[in-house]
Amino acid sequence: MKTALITGSTSGIGLGIAREFAKTKKYNIIFNGLEANGQEIADGIGKEFGIGVMFSNANMLKPEELRKMVDDGIKKFGGIDILINNAGIQHVSAVEDFPDEKWNAIIGINLTSAFYLTKAVWKGMKERKFGRIINIASAHGLVASEFKSAYVASKHGIVGFTKTIALEGAPFNISCNAICPGYVKTPLVEKQIADQAKTHNIPESEVVSKIMLYKQAVKDFVSLETLGQTALLLASEHANTITGTAIPVDGGWNAQ
Ligand code: NAD
Repeated sequence: MKTALITGSTSGIGLGIAREFAKTKKYNIIFNGLEANGQEIADGIGKEFGIGVMFSNANMLKPEELRKMVDDGIKKFGGIDILINNAGIQHVSAVEDFPDEKWNAIIGINLTSAFYLTKAVWKGMKERKFGRIINIASAHGLVASEFKSAYVASKHGIVGFTKTIALEGAPFNISCNAICPGYVKTPLVEKQIADQAKTHNIPESEVVSKIMLYKQAVKDFVSLETLGQTALLLASEHANTITGTAIPVDGGWNAQ
């Protein structure tokens, strides 16, 4: 049994990835997120699939809470083999009106937390000569869209971080890759619809077709199962030579 720590796994993509890992019955899962029913979600999946679970509400902006989550996970399961840096937030606004505190929160949650957590799991991965670090970036880790300056900066940043960690981890069988999803229908995207309508000055009913899926060749949201299966490949033994990549799972957005 290996152990996977997935940040932001009590909602959306993180929860979808956790479910795909749980279905294999090969992983203990450390859940994390700010949802009030996080413990309940973790316990429910643990029971449904007969796997070991832990829940932590460690805040991505508080390094000491992140280190405690890792220490508690190591105490409970003996080590952390897979780290999935997934927690993230968004804010849509023209740069001239972009609130300073939103910029700092986005960089802190989407980028800097991955640095703290990588540092915290590194020693154990190095000693056991196995580690898989998977960063959930975005299509916006590879290309930009207007009105998302902080988000695009954070996601390009995490793609750069991924490459560096891949180089440093290579001698120890620690691989590091980024997954770059297109649009996935989660609370993060639902919340954006109103903001996008306001910023682009169009009705909310037109945001999905005119703004979101407009850039994807495949006019469907990316599914949680597809992202979970991609993460499972990157977590496997086979991913020892897949490292330093940023894999678009974006319905062809980046092909254009
Ligand atoms: P979501 O809002 O459904 O889930 C985000 C999770 O992160 C939640 O569990 C939340 O509690 C947690 N979180 C937020 N701030 C936190 C903090 N300070 N400390 C601890 N946890 C915190 O969003 P999602 O759509 O599932 O997004 C997950 C990741 O996928 C993000 O990094 C996002 O940028 C990325 N992504 C999403 C999409 C999409 O279309 N939904 C596309 C590409 C990339």
